[in-house]
Amino acid sequence: MSVVVYYSKLKRLWDEFNELEPPSVCKCIAGCPCNVTQDFLKKEQRKKLMQFLIELNEKYDAIKYKILTMEPGLQSFVDKKVVKK
Ligand SMILES: [Zn+2]
Repeated sequence: MSVVVYYSKLKRLWDEFNELEPPSVCKCIAGCPCNVTQDFLKKEQRKKLMQFLIELNEKYDAIKYKILTMEPGLQSFVDKKVVKK
């Protein structure tokens, strides 16, 4: 399975999940000082990225670590979750 196929499968799953459980939106009446929506989307993106990286076949380690160097905070987390075969 190529990375592209794998990613599109995962993407479809996320979309279905979002339909089931819509993302939280801010309830501010005027303006928006809370950034709830923005914050939530940012977290969601990181969560999805992590999931993607964790499930990624070790064949794609090179790609994985390239992404991880761009997201320094994720490295140790993913390292812990990845099961070495
Ligand atoms: Zn708000």
